[in-house]
Amino acid sequence: MSFLAFFWICDIGFQKSINTTVDAASRANLETVERVLANTAPKGREAVIAELRDLDKLWANGALFEVADANGEWIFRSNGFLHPRTPVPNASENAVSFFTTNLDFNQYRIALAATRLNGEIFKIYAAVPTEPFDQALDRFRLIEQEALPPLVLIATLLGYWLSGKSLAPVGEIIRTAEMIGVDNLSHRLEVPKPHDELRRLTETLNAMLGRIENSFQRITQFTADASHDLRTPVAVMRATAEIALRKQRTQTEYEEALSRILQTSVETSAMLENLLLIARADAGAAGLEMHPVDLKTHIRRAQEHGAILAATKSLSFTSQLPESEVLVKGDAIAIDRLLMILVDNAVKYTPPGGRCEIALTTSEAEAHISVKDSGVGIDTEDLESIFERFYRADETRSREISGAGLGLAIARWIANVHGGSITAESVIGTGSVFRVKLPALAAV
Ligand code: ADP
Repeated sequence: MSFLAFFWICDIGFQKSINTTVDAASRANLETVERVLANTAPKGREAVIAELRDLDKLWANGALFEVADANGEWIFRSNGFLHPRTPVPNASENAVSFFTTNLDFNQYRIALAATRLNGEIFKIYAAVPTEPFDQALDRFRLIEQEALPPLVLIATLLGYWLSGKSLAPVGEIIRTAEMIGVDNLSHRLEVPKPHDELRRLTETLNAMLGRIENSFQRITQFTADASHDLRTPVAVMRATAEIALRKQRTQTEYEEALSRILQTSVETSAMLENLLLIARADAGAAGLEMHPVDLKTHIRRAQEHGAILAATKSLSFTSQLPESEVLVKGDAIAIDRLLMILVDNAVKYTPPGGRCEIALTTSEAEAHISVKDSGVGIDTEDLESIFERFYRADETRSREISGAGLGLAIARWIANVHGGSITAESVIGTGSVFRVKLPALAAV
């Protein structure tokens, strides 16, 4: 297509330059005749005719001319100058006009002008054959016709080769991408050297693979941790039952075995419930129902729950509440769960005789909940990780206290889905404080 356009433009250009050249040639001839006339006119008509005849003989390249008087009667006419077959424009004294016509079956370009010499007007027709120029144009068109097919073929082959070369990296990306599966998620696509769109695409795909690998690792880790943590209590229950049944036991021994099994199964079902909640949250199907809730009511309930737990360990569990209600938009069950996790932990990780407190304050458009204890505290190194699933700080110490390391992960998820946040501050041996910020609704 572009070749056709190129040849078409060349053709037009060539034709234009031929027209200019032909016009220039006929004008030059006309001026020569004019000069001869000017030199010989004063010598009389006979002298003029003799000079013009000599000039005609001199022009061997097919150029013709005619000189006529004011009435159109010709004074001199080259051999072969027959009358033009097209209407002849009027000769003007001041300008040269051009026209194309056939003289004796050959095409000519004729320059026409009128000139006044010795008070007499002469009309001059200077004709140049256009055939040599037309032949040149024909030759050019023939070359065009012959050159076009091989050029198109070469261009097609070149285009095919170039596109194959530029698409080769895409083929490589497809081959590698097809190879990548769950078994080799760490595999990455080879990044092409040139800084182009393909390189950006490869880097984007690699980054996406990185994210998928990360999520996949987290899911695998979660499944492994969950099955490990579930196996332990099941093994404890089974071993307790097997040992109890191995021989005849006293009433007290049976009661002890049964209550251990009961305790472990309660903990296991709590853990299963947490796992289920996390799985639902990950799937985006936690089914939360957001309504305006009064945090004061929920915190009062959490404090009462904490106080009952604290009583079994000789702890105090107090609360600090504002006068007015504090409304947030949230799911009542999820908010209760968040508060219970923090309250349970405060009691769990505070030795007998300690103090725990839950408080609610507001600032600007936020509700601030803090759960403070005078417990064992958390190492600075662990503070960042305690909100991760299955993370339990200080393994040996935590082992003595029941738990699966899921509570704070759930607490953080609840705070986040409510548009809030949760943070922890702690000093080992002194105590910890967990702070939850939630966007508050304007009181009505
Ligand atoms: P769990 O309590 O079941 O182990 P959590 O996710 O609730 O799991 O807590 C994660 C870890 O954070 C706990 O194992 C414990 O090491 C630490 N932690 C949480 N709350 C407290 C607290 N109030 N005082 C000291 N350590 C705490």
